[in-house]
Parts: sequence; structure tokens; C-alpha cells
Amino acid sequence: MAKKKAKGYVVINPELCKGCYLCISVCPVKGLGVSNKINQKGYYPVEFQEGDEDKKCTGCANCATICPDIAIEVYRE
Ligand code: SF4
Ligand code: SF4
Repeated sequence: MAKKKAKGYVVINPELCKGCYLCISVCPVKGLGVSNKINQKGYYPVEFQEGDEDKKCTGCANCATICPDIAIEVYRE
């Protein structure tokens, strides 16, 4: 049987994000990217961009740990 990959998902509050993009740099699956919708503070917040299988969130929490504004919550499945 194939080894099951760790899975998770993130909930990002776009209004708390200030667009520093630190989280993008620490995501091991490169799943985070910049939204094309501007938030009320005038920043383009981060969003999880669903891609192919190797871009699935692992629930590692690197992004939530580095976020200075506590804009990301991580859940593991
Ligand atoms: S680290 Fe936090 S504030 Fe910075 S871009 Fe990511 S979600 Fe936004
Ligand atoms: S929890 Fe890990 S894999 Fe998921 S979006 Fe954050 S840094 Fe990327």
C-alpha cells in the first residue's frame, strides 16, 4: 500500500493579511500565491491556490508560524 501523504488545509483571513508574503517563501509545496482581489487595507492578500497533486497542503503550519499578523489557520485532515 502506498504511504499516505500528510494532508491539511489553510484558512486565510484576507483582511488580516498585509501582503508581506513571508508565508509564500516557506510553503514546501509552493501552494500559496497572491490573490488578485485587493483587501480593505489596500493589500493583495495571500490565498491557497489549488493546483496539481504535489501542490496539496500538507498541514505543516510553516505559513501560520511565520505570519506576523496571525492571518492563517492550519487544519490537518
Ligand atoms: S505572512 Fe501573513 S501577513 Fe504576510 S503575506 Fe502571508 S498571510 Fe499575509
Ligand atoms: S500548512 Fe504548510 S503546506 Fe499548507 S499552505 Fe501552509 S506552509 Fe504550505
